[in-house]
Amino acid sequence: MKQRKKVLITGAAGFLGSHLCDRFIKEDFHVIAMDNLITGRLKNIEHLFPLENFEFYNHDVSKFIHIPGELDYIMHFASPASPIDYLKIPIQTLKVGSLGIHNCLGLAKAKNATLMIASTSEVYGDPEVHPQTEEYWGNVNPIGPRGVYDEAKRFQEAMTMAYHTFHDVDTRIVRIFNTYGPRMRLNDGRVLPAFIGQALRGEDLTVFGDGSQTRSFCYVDDLVEGIYRLLNKKDYHQPVNIGNPDEISIGDFAEEIIKLTGTTQKVIYKDLPVNDPKQRQPDITKAIDLLGWTPKVDRASGLKITYDYFKSLSKDELEKTDH
Ligand code: NAD
Ligand code: UDP
Repeated sequence: MKQRKKVLITGAAGFLGSHLCDRFIKEDFHVIAMDNLITGRLKNIEHLFPLENFEFYNHDVSKFIHIPGELDYIMHFASPASPIDYLKIPIQTLKVGSLGIHNCLGLAKAKNATLMIASTSEVYGDPEVHPQTEEYWGNVNPIGPRGVYDEAKRFQEAMTMAYHTFHDVDTRIVRIFNTYGPRMRLNDGRVLPAFIGQALRGEDLTVFGDGSQTRSFCYVDDLVEGIYRLLNKKDYHQPVNIGNPDEISIGDFAEEIIKLTGTTQKVIYKDLPVNDPKQRQPDITKAIDLLGWTPKVDRASGLKITYDYFKSLSKDELEKTDH
């Protein structure tokens, strides 16, 4: 019988982790999914449970990880990712970015596995360089409310690079920019589910600040393709930005959602959260040159798919608020 490659995916029941599970199953891997369900949901991966090449461990990766047998790849994606989540569970966020990556790197060293970490555009903080290249070191307030996430991710990069340099672990660092698509939680506080949820419930859309701050949104399938290519790129251990450079202000984004959903509600303005980055756009020259990767799904198409997903949710789920 053919021996399948084995991959451990941490954060597998989350938005991105679940899409990664689907991709690795499609590529005929044996997938070991791990999650403590702190922000994720089994619903995102339950369609994979009947498969013989899929297994799930309910485990906190900030605690020692034991995986029997061989392991070829580790994808460390466990971490609260939305500002509302990491403000609510700051210590767990710091722990999974520090203790969690230490455990994963120890496991990678013991198993001689290749390890990828999910880093983030947040390592650039409120950037003074625009668009952000991988060479930019960032502008982060370590003790501000977002510091628990940003610094955990920066530590995670430092730890990963140290294990590569000192223990010769085969590592990859992907810096992910704002990504969206089906399986985001409607109430996770991120701007896209927030706006679509408000439109579906007949509420006004809440723009924070004056709406002039910008983001660049990448559709999840494009992101997963970029990640898969980076994992397969040999001998490159520096960070690589993966994101869609199509930048838009949050005010204009709200207008796009109003048009898409046909809601008759209006935009209302609320205070801008502390240290909210003013602008964000990836420079993806490295991804293009190294991986031959560019995003393929434009915002209109990606938003339509995502809106259809949210519309298909039950009324109960729509009304539920986690926060
Ligand atoms: P998510 O909250 O949907 O998924 C994170 C998953 O990690 C959840 O299922 C959660 O239960 C799990 N988790 C958290 N702490 C854990 C722990 N200690 N042990 C085991 N499991 C744990 O978030 P997401 O959007 O899918 O983000 C996934 C990863 O990608 C995160 O590392 C995040 O920082 C990174 N990222 C995401 C984006 C984005 O736009 N979605 C952007 C940049 C980086
Ligand atoms: N935002 C907003 N209204 C909301 C939720 C978010 O105007 O209901 C803004 C938020 O202040 C930020 C942008 O949208 O400027 C993106 O926020 P998100 O939480 O999605 O991601 P991040 O700030 O981490 O990029």
